[in-house]
Amino acid sequence: MATPSTDGRVSRRAMLRGGTLFLAAGAFAANAPWTDCAAAARDAEPDEGDDAKPLLRIGLVTDLHYADKPAAGSRHYRLSVERLERAVAEFDANAVDAIVELGDLVDAADSDKTELAWLRTINDNLAAAKAPRYYVLGNHCVDTLTKEQFLGGVAQEKSFFSFDVKDHHCIVLDACFRADGKPYGAKNASWDDANLAAAELEWLAADLAATKLPTLVFAHQRLDVTTKYAAKNAADARKLLEASQKVLAVFQGHEHKNDHREVEGIHYATLAALVEGGPAKQGEKETNAFAVLDVFAGGKLAVRGFAKQASYDWR
Ligand SMILES: [Zn+2]
Repeated sequence: MATPSTDGRVSRRAMLRGGTLFLAAGAFAANAPWTDCAAAARDAEPDEGDDAKPLLRIGLVTDLHYADKPAAGSRHYRLSVERLERAVAEFDANAVDAIVELGDLVDAADSDKTELAWLRTINDNLAAAKAPRYYVLGNHCVDTLTKEQFLGGVAQEKSFFSFDVKDHHCIVLDACFRADGKPYGAKNASWDDANLAAAELEWLAADLAATKLPTLVFAHQRLDVTTKYAAKNAADARKLLEASQKVLAVFQGHEHKNDHREVEGIHYATLAALVEGGPAKQGEKETNAFAVLDVFAGGKLAVRGFAKQASYDWR
């Protein structure tokens, strides 16, 4: 729901709608106090027409870092199982059309055998969801494991690919390549040497050219900044996304904090990490982070954040 008082853009629209309301009502009650702005704003809550019904709904979750090991700092690895169960229950209750897991599903183990067991544990919980699932590779996913091992563990064929759902195009990117083009895997890479592969950028350009649909992009490392949390060649990717004129938004993880930027008309949302924070004490807000993304007609978007995840209304 729009909150008319906190966003200049929404307020302006509220006033406009208020104006329409005034004209329509004038015929019935010429003396009614319709010029009251607060009343106009209250009446400007999205109505229940076609406009208010999402065309597509996607469940988003990132940075679960599941591991059967004691908490370290703010990361409570074992709690990720119950937090994900809660997220999946919400995704099911909201009848999402797809779920995108934005990377770092597992944290590092000291052997690939242990890592694969942890991956099975957490992925069994995600696989209990009703909607189809798509996985973005995070640096931790392919720290102990190779890409082949991780993808085998989640039954996904590729690390970068696209799919269509409910008349929208979705692109999953993989920035787990070193600057020399070698894929991450089996402890061969440094987390801050993240890059999209040259062949991947070529594929991205062709994939964007081939679709006629409004497009959403999913990545683990950020594409909207130049910090160590970004893919080093993020600007090359942004250029392609912008030139296509088809991309509505990019959703990303990795930095474990809420952030939102709009660059050249494209929203870039960095989502909060599910693994962060200890158990909620009595009377405290639940510790968790996940979101339901609604896509409306005209490419308008709203993100409903749960627990520590921020909400956005870009309608
Ligand atoms: Zn992470």
